[in-house]
Amino acid sequence: MSVVVIGAGLAGLSAAITLQNSGREVEVIESSSRVGGRVASDTIDGFTLDHGFQLINANYPEVVRLGIINEIAFIRAPRVIDYSLGDQRFSIGDPRVAPLSALGNRTGTIGEKLAFLKYLASNSYSGKSVADELGNLGNLYTRILSPFLTGVFLTPLTGIDAVTGKNLIRSFITGAPGLPDGGVGAFTQQLSTRVKKIHLNRRIDSLQEFAGREVIVATDVTTAAQLLDISEVPKLANSTTWYHEVPADFSDSNRLLIDAGHRGPVVNSLVISNLVNSYAPAGRSLLSSTTIESASESEVRRHLSLMWGTQTQTWPLIAKYDIPKSLPIFGIGNHLVTSSRVSEKVFVAGDFRLAPSQEGALLSGRLAAQELLLNKSA
Ligand SMILES: Cc1cc2nc3c(=O)[nH]c(=O)nc-3n(C[C@H](O)[C@H](O)[C@H](O)COP(=O)(O)OP(=O)(O)OC[C@H]3O[C@@H](n4cnc5c(N)ncnc54)[C@H](O)[C@@H]3O)c2cc1C
Repeated sequence: MSVVVIGAGLAGLSAAITLQNSGREVEVIESSSRVGGRVASDTIDGFTLDHGFQLINANYPEVVRLGIINEIAFIRAPRVIDYSLGDQRFSIGDPRVAPLSALGNRTGTIGEKLAFLKYLASNSYSGKSVADELGNLGNLYTRILSPFLTGVFLTPLTGIDAVTGKNLIRSFITGAPGLPDGGVGAFTQQLSTRVKKIHLNRRIDSLQEFAGREVIVATDVTTAAQLLDISEVPKLANSTTWYHEVPADFSDSNRLLIDAGHRGPVVNSLVISNLVNSYAPAGRSLLSSTTIESASESEVRRHLSLMWGTQTQTWPLIAKYDIPKSLPIFGIGNHLVTSSRVSEKVFVAGDFRLAPSQEGALLSGRLAAQELLLNKSA
């Protein structure tokens, strides 16, 4: 009998592909009208709008293993970010691209930068937060690491486990971030073409109908907790992505902008159509900005005005995406991996099991499938 995978996000797709590759029949059941879960895009009036700003890391081991990047038109993002300080903007990042950026005093002393390299090379231990480990790095922390990483974890760094945090920070440093032409959803759409049977628009509220069958629950964590009767659920980070149309000659930067001065609710902002042209119709430009705390549109405009150094009142708001369950928060002490087996034939997958990232979701799906296969042969 075929294995049932509930949820067609990255974890569910990865589990289904692993099972199929081992010769098992699989059916994936998805409650929404499309695959991809949190990795999805809409097209509105010729603009491509991702469900929350995110980049794909082409160097994630699971992404490499799947060999999916060659199947999509993947456009690499620069490994440099911009930061606004006062009314000016500066760059920092890969020294091959911005050779002097790492040396300037604005972003911390040489000693602080060396201390950050030492941090990357060392082991972290649970019981501490990312902020505990990085908070003494002066301007490097307050101006760069804190605003940038808050946009990665979508929650303050005081609440992120040091071990989980370091793993993700390292993967960013060695990453190859980018986006597919057609939006982030093109990634999951392409992945889904490898799965033979996917039923859309079918919500599962109980596992009773699958009694006796092998099941992988690959939903978001709160749904998984309900289906599997799990009482402990991690806290979840919320985020909102705001899409404004900006004048075509507004900026030619294709780099992420953060605010070194923490002057408002925006954690990052990018003229996303400068990175991938097809995100806006010809001759027009699309700005993607993310907030993590509740903020009014006027607060967002005010902050964007400070960050970009320009008036923002006339920018049309194209769309706003509130994403209440953006990421599971791996709180202090929460980094241990346990078996994905819940009962004899039921397994669980999802980013909440391993890491709050595409890699965490893909790997958890593959591991759950492999555990199921081992279980079968045992
Ligand atoms: C704003 C934002 C920014 C991000 N940025 C990055 C980034 O830059 N880099 C990175 O690596 N990661 C990033 N992530 C994280 C990454 O997108 C997620 O970790 C990953 O997509 C989670 O995949 P998943 O399969 O575990 O869960 P989901 O994507 O949530 O998939 C679960 C699926 O289950 C379905 N489902 C739910 N309930 C039911 C039910 N009852 N019956 C049937 N189906 C059901 C859902 O519809 C969904 O399709 C970001 C996420 C967000 C939201």
